[in-house]
Amino acid sequence: MSVLALETRGLSKSFGGFKANTDVSLKVQAGARHALIGPNGAGKTTFINLLTGVLPATAGSVWLQGEDVTTISPQGRVRRGMARTFQINQLFNELTPLETVGLAISERTGFGAQWWRRIGTNSAVVDEAAELLMRMRLGDVMLRQTKVLPYGKQRLLEISLALACQPSLLLLDEPAAGVPEDERHEILDIVTALPESVTVLLIEHDMELVFTFADRISVLVQGMLFAEGSVEEISNDPRVKAVYLGEEAHV
Ligand code: ADP
Ligand code: MG
Repeated sequence: MSVLALETRGLSKSFGGFKANTDVSLKVQAGARHALIGPNGAGKTTFINLLTGVLPATAGSVWLQGEDVTTISPQGRVRRGMARTFQINQLFNELTPLETVGLAISERTGFGAQWWRRIGTNSAVVDEAAELLMRMRLGDVMLRQTKVLPYGKQRLLEISLALACQPSLLLLDEPAAGVPEDERHEILDIVTALPESVTVLLIEHDMELVFTFADRISVLVQGMLFAEGSVEEISNDPRVKAVYLGEEAHV
């Protein structure tokens, strides 16, 4: 059997007396398009924070491609192939997508922040950045300032930035949140079309997008794994429907 891209064993997180994640044991196959769904407050973002090491787990372990990374720093996990989307800050707003992604690639390849000055001598960084941005359908806007881009394009740039680390596992926490309806499908289409060498774990609230995207779905409710299965199994599971029924008002 092939090595799992990601596995958690009994992963738990308490904030004081409140249990945000309880005994979560999840397996993500290499190359999967795996979705993690659940009502607001179910503990999905907390789970991602435990995976990336932003928060220490209260109990349990995280395994990345067969390696126990539970005590490894967030940066160490990135180096081992785990990437998540970044929030774009003020600095990046002033830069173009080409500069932003170029910066990330040159960090990875060891050129550091000097890369833009070396543009004449090292076009490999620029070529890789441009190629990635074209794949993410940002080619036509890659020379504009990030702050003038439509929100959906900015979210695609966040994903591009994560991909610049050449991850084997991409963690996406509601990448289409706040994006207008007509741009949401584009984001998910692009993520779906990523090469199989990139395993994707997606948190998404829009069920239609989840059912189009995923080949495997796990459902988290009140910090616990509640159900898991194929799109067909989850979409027909009356218990899952019941969980979401009370939610529909604010989906
Ligand atoms: P989801 O992403 O599924 O909406 P979260 O993981 O953001 O859920 O939150 C799960 C629960 O944990 C919520 O009740 C939230 O208030 C709580 N929580 C999240 N982070 C913290 C924190 N740093 N301190 C205390 N409680 C937190
Ligand atoms: Mg969340």
